[in-house]
Amino acid sequence: MNIILMGLPGAGKGTQAERIVKEFDIPHISTGDMFRAAVKNETPLGLKAKSYMDQGQLVPDEVVIGIVRERLAMEDCEKGFLLDGFPRTVPQAEALTATVKELGREIDHVININVRRELLIDRLTGRWICPVCGASYHTMFNPPKEAGICDKDGGKLYQRDDDKLEVVSQRLDVNIAQTQLLIDYYTEQGLLRSIDGEQDIQVVFEEIKSLLRG
Ligand SMILES: [Zn+2]
Repeated sequence: MNIILMGLPGAGKGTQAERIVKEFDIPHISTGDMFRAAVKNETPLGLKAKSYMDQGQLVPDEVVIGIVRERLAMEDCEKGFLLDGFPRTVPQAEALTATVKELGREIDHVININVRRELLIDRLTGRWICPVCGASYHTMFNPPKEAGICDKDGGKLYQRDDDKLEVVSQRLDVNIAQTQLLIDYYTEQGLLRSIDGEQDIQVVFEEIKSLLRG
């Protein structure tokens, strides 16, 4: 079972990824972990990637895809894998298709956890922090008893810059544009499976499971 999991920030991708790899007993391959491992193990590609990162430069696609290829060729991927956070662009997706083919494999499913922009904005901008005790609240998931006020000490809650609407919506829009191109690519390939990510976490997981078992 070779799976690519897609979802915008706030769509619940991390939660579902954890459940999928546990259920199907396949490795969770996230770009971040893969990079850290390659750099730490000082593989030739890891060292190459590090030299770009040390200079604050973007790691070029041929290095990225090389690291992905090495990872997918490892023994634990023989029964399948869940790719998370890769590919991010259509050229990367094309390179991945070619690489997987070279390994004598194919991508079985590309799952996109779909959540409307407005709801993502609500989820991503909902965090408020107490300056007195550091408690963290969320307007949707863990609201204070009185809006804007800490339950414990009456502190006036504030938002981190990263959680503010302007920052969140700008970051999200870049992501949406990029993701749409990938959605188009995998739709053309007949691989895209869309899941309604606005449902309860458990319902989303059940749908993913039945889709993968289908
Ligand atoms: Zn407080």
